[in-house]
Amino acid sequence: MSLNVLVVEDDREIRAMMQASLSVEGFEVQTAVSLSEARALLQHKPPDLIVLDLGLPDGDGADLVRELRKQHSTPVIVVSARHQEAQKIALLDAGADDYLTKPFSVGELLARMRVALRHRGTSLAAAITTHDLDGLHVDLTTRVVSLDGVALHLTPTEFNLLARLVRSAGRVVTHRQLLADVWGAEFTEHTHYLRLYMGQLRAKIERDPAEPRHLLTDTGVGYRLADV
Ligand code: CA
Repeated sequence: MSLNVLVVEDDREIRAMMQASLSVEGFEVQTAVSLSEARALLQHKPPDLIVLDLGLPDGDGADLVRELRKQHSTPVIVVSARHQEAQKIALLDAGADDYLTKPFSVGELLARMRVALRHRGTSLAAAITTHDLDGLHVDLTTRVVSLDGVALHLTPTEFNLLARLVRSAGRVVTHRQLLADVWGAEFTEHTHYLRLYMGQLRAKIERDPAEPRHLLTDTGVGYRLADV
């Protein structure tokens, strides 16, 4: 059975391009030109994934994501223009899974969709317990972290930060989400903690901390653990 994707986009050309290219990939594609049209379609039948444009004529996409998250874990990928940084982060904090900045290629969209669909329905606490990439091994159950077979010694906070990224491997995690989940809700403004601990983690798990391959920076948004 093919997966159902809802594309919410008011730009006719981009909408048609996404509909055509996702259909070619075997997705069932529904489209909406506004938030109200998207809401109507969502009530009828929630799709397997939503691609949500940020610049829509009738309101704030963050409200739609918050409404959706009350009942569904449907992945949401936000599509934004460069000047929509603050809105984009608000959507990610509201529960959107990832984002793309215009212009993007179909290949980039499909890669983000694959990661989001893999995480679909998995709660943060469960499901993903190990991470292996390019010699880096992380086991969340035994709390063992190794690089090229050599065990690394992480502090509890370093481990918790890495573990949070492992549970969302391949997806961006915003500064606010990381601070809330690792340090606590009252620390969401303390981004200097993140810079400090990310530097320490990179010094331990990256072969070249100046050119990180695992702990990637999404400038102004958050961090992403590479998974391919
Ligand atoms: Ca638009």
